[in-house]
Amino acid sequence: MAKFVFVTGGVVSGLGKGITASSLALLLKARGYKVFMQKFDPYINVDPGTMSPYQHGEVFVTYDGTETDLDLGHYERFIDEELNYTSNITTGKIYKNVIEKERRGDYLGATVQIVPHITNEIKAKVYEAAETSKADIVITEIGGTIGDIESQAYIEALRQIRNELGNSNTLFVHTTLVPLIYGSNELKTKPTQHSVIELRGMGIQPDIIVCRSSEELSSSLKEKISLFCSVPKENVIDSVDVKNIFQVPLNYLKEGMDEIVLKQFGLKVNKSDIKYWQDLVTKVDNLKDEIEISLVGKYVELHDAYISVSESLKHAGYANNVKVNINWVNSEELEKCDNLDEVFKNSSGIIVPGGFGVRGIEGKIKAINYARVNKIPFLGICLGMQLAVIEFARNVCNLPLASSTEFDETCDDPIIDLMAEQKGIINMGGTLRLGNYDCKLTKGTLAYQDYKEENIKERHRHRYEFNNKYKALLEEKGMVFSGINEKANLVEIIELKDHPHFIACQFHPEFKSRPTRPHPLFNSFIRESFKYAKRK
Ligand code: GLN
Repeated sequence: MAKFVFVTGGVVSGLGKGITASSLALLLKARGYKVFMQKFDPYINVDPGTMSPYQHGEVFVTYDGTETDLDLGHYERFIDEELNYTSNITTGKIYKNVIEKERRGDYLGATVQIVPHITNEIKAKVYEAAETSKADIVITEIGGTIGDIESQAYIEALRQIRNELGNSNTLFVHTTLVPLIYGSNELKTKPTQHSVIELRGMGIQPDIIVCRSSEELSSSLKEKISLFCSVPKENVIDSVDVKNIFQVPLNYLKEGMDEIVLKQFGLKVNKSDIKYWQDLVTKVDNLKDEIEISLVGKYVELHDAYISVSESLKHAGYANNVKVNINWVNSEELEKCDNLDEVFKNSSGIIVPGGFGVRGIEGKIKAINYARVNKIPFLGICLGMQLAVIEFARNVCNLPLASSTEFDETCDDPIIDLMAEQKGIINMGGTLRLGNYDCKLTKGTLAYQDYKEENIKERHRHRYEFNNKYKALLEEKGMVFSGINEKANLVEIIELKDHPHFIACQFHPEFKSRPTRPHPLFNSFIRESFKYAKRK
């Protein structure tokens, strides 16, 4: 049977609970255990797919097409395991299931209540993750902060799980803040004490307390927390602020966090196979060269809206021994700008990531045109590919009215259009083309050179497609359709003949990039951008 770790947060949000959960998972994997991760989000949306990126940041997509919280991206990047529909549970999903069961009559006339019906549904989700993943250890992060009204049913469900399975099968990690008070320059433990009191009030005694602070806690402070919160002193773990988040697992290793967990579970403490991660940290801390990449999008004020893209750029930088700095370019502002030379003067590559809706698209098209004409390395993703095709149609193929029916339903040249099966869909949530689809690459193309294989699978999240009616014309003018989904005859990758590095894809490569294993499309983009920087 699997063992369960539950990660809660106290005092304030934004403490890096997700990084703590994934760091612990990474350490346990490095000790030879199969780990799986899961996040509970206490909001009522069924998934974050319908939320604005300004509200929620990026929507991360798993291979099976589940639209999830961006924390799952951190999980996958840290533990390098593919997660799935059991990995992100929301209050919306829980209630939807319970209400459907009630309507079917599954509860046999009972009054349906938070305890036990909602809590049972939550518990079932924890056990389902364990069963389907066959993991030795499942780590579940509970979104929000202890004391939030929304998360109470989750905490109660976890209390019941502990009650059922006992301390040798369950472990609670509580992350808190130990603030440094300006003036007296003292670290204060009282917020941690209060947060643990609150957790205990809900029937949960934490086993490990992770203390986020600007400096290491002294031995006496750890003793104090230990005394007031009833945890052994060595289970009070330091989590000092770091410049490089990859350092976090190594700090927890030093604190012995993974050993504490394994010992409580009665599992063998195998040797830690962590050298690859230590090498990564050393590499990241010692990059000498730097390049700038312009990222053109409409949500650039909130960098979290592009977190997987920006992480993927960095990963590719590590592989090419160069630090990637991002020049965040607001596409709406670019529409009004007439000096693109100034905007892109320090950039060695331009990336246009995914997006929805008409706002800012003309600015993105301007950036794509600039990259194409000036032969600057370019990578387009999803909407970025659709706009690259529109730009080419308008300016090279003499179709000035080319557009997407997403922006203009009645446009004269709908070069991007709704797929037949998308027509007539009314519901917004969960109805995009989502998750893994096959793509076949043409030998002799940039794409094939990058992947070095013919058949790939990539994750999708879009509704519109390239309109094959225009394929022959674009091909004749120099566009190469290097990746195709053969089953549905859909264009997946385009590139340009007459350009050193211009490539764009309908899928989202950023979801599959890992710190020690960059995605091939990002890797070649950064490699070519770095070459371009040296030539400049
Ligand atoms: N809005 C486009 C579509 O739905 C692109 C989506 C995206 O970039 N993720 O097809």
